[in-house]
Amino acid sequence: MESQIKKTHQQLVSKQITCTALIQEKLDLLQQNTHNSVNTLLDTIALELAAKVDAKINNGESIGLLEGIPFGIKDVYMFQGTNTTASSNLLKNYKSAYTATAIQKLLDAGAIPIVKENCDSFGHGSSSENTIFGAVKNANNPNLVGGGSSGGSAVNVAKDYTVFSIGGDTGGSVRQPAGYNSVYGLKPTYGRISRYGLMAYASSTDCVGPLAKSIEDIRIVLNTMSGKDAKDQTTYQSEDINDADILNSNTVKSVGYFKNFIDSDAIDTQVKADFLKTIEKIKAKGIEVKALDFFESNTLVSTYYTLAMAETASNLSRLDGTNYGNRIESDNLKETYAVTRSENFSEETKRRIVGGNQVLSQGFSDAIYLKGLALRDQISQSFDADFNDVDIILSPVTPAAPPEIGNSLKDPLAMYLSDAYTVGFSLAQLPTLTIPKGTVTGLQISAAKKNDDKVLTFANFLNDVL
Ligand code: GLN
Repeated sequence: MESQIKKTHQQLVSKQITCTALIQEKLDLLQQNTHNSVNTLLDTIALELAAKVDAKINNGESIGLLEGIPFGIKDVYMFQGTNTTASSNLLKNYKSAYTATAIQKLLDAGAIPIVKENCDSFGHGSSSENTIFGAVKNANNPNLVGGGSSGGSAVNVAKDYTVFSIGGDTGGSVRQPAGYNSVYGLKPTYGRISRYGLMAYASSTDCVGPLAKSIEDIRIVLNTMSGKDAKDQTTYQSEDINDADILNSNTVKSVGYFKNFIDSDAIDTQVKADFLKTIEKIKAKGIEVKALDFFESNTLVSTYYTLAMAETASNLSRLDGTNYGNRIESDNLKETYAVTRSENFSEETKRRIVGGNQVLSQGFSDAIYLKGLALRDQISQSFDADFNDVDIILSPVTPAAPPEIGNSLKDPLAMYLSDAYTVGFSLAQLPTLTIPKGTVTGLQISAAKKNDDKVLTFANFLNDVL
């Protein structure tokens, strides 16, 4: 699909539509929507910003490409003065005291935030059912889940309620809902975009990621948000990716895929058949394709969940009703903490806090947490070796189509296992993009660290081939 940002920009500068009318139209769509994708509408601020853009256009001043473009924000990003709930009871009334760097960069470029979007509480989930705002319904079929944790963001983009949305991806939360709702979603290289002001889930894999309807829009938004930030020491300075560079597919000579992902018992037969068909089409274009060995799904999922639970147990320990959160008073301070956290965290979040504290505790940490760290190193090394051999690794996004609403809550272990194809790329901090092609839930394109441009290049190539 063509760039929705460029198309909308053109409509604004040619005065086909006013910015105020555009923003009002999107706000109305969001308000009336029945997919549960909205936590808070940012109507007042959005209309104020739109009026300024209209004044500029009417004055004959030029506007930047992102100026006046409406976008959505997963409800885990700080945006000063607005509610940031993480879809949780605990933070139901919390107002951001400051603005996340990634969001500030978009504001500085003139983009207009219109909605805080529904998601799994604190990013804990793969279906966007773990939320106090009601399960997010899939854009293609409302009986199915929207995917998660950035489900509201993916649905809003798919339904054209936002031109693009900013999700967060710790273990697949941008890529999987993008696949479930047939849009693009990028998890950039870890550190390319500042995490400052993104509510921490698992800090060592948390990534800011855009969802959009075209590769070009992903590129534009990625460039705008990237860069070193003194407030996040894991960030690095990156070069802008220009549009001409990612059109030259000659830079990709070889592609790998993981044999065991495709041979697994868990993969749906249609997903497998479609993926193998894609591989044949790539080969037919003269690209060398290699079947690679990789870690078993069980190892990937248990390594990821061990580390993610440990990190989230630590990160969420600050939410005790003292500095943050709905405090529930009890007999003494300890009881107050206990009741505040027991009453206000969801079952899924509590499961992760308990699990995380368990793997970090004396007597268990050597056998579980440290083993998880060691396995993570091995997974990264395995990717390093693969990327000496191939330019791109291609994978299905999920083993199967989205489940019906209600099923994931009944079986958390099955939900964890459905993340088998996304979590490895997260543990290795690699740039990975979902494209809505190739299988019913799309394809993931991954490259070595800091090669986000190569990922977009191959996505453009596949767009022409599939
Ligand atoms: N489904 C994964 C989890 O629950 C990933 C979530 C995410 O990336 N935030 O941990």
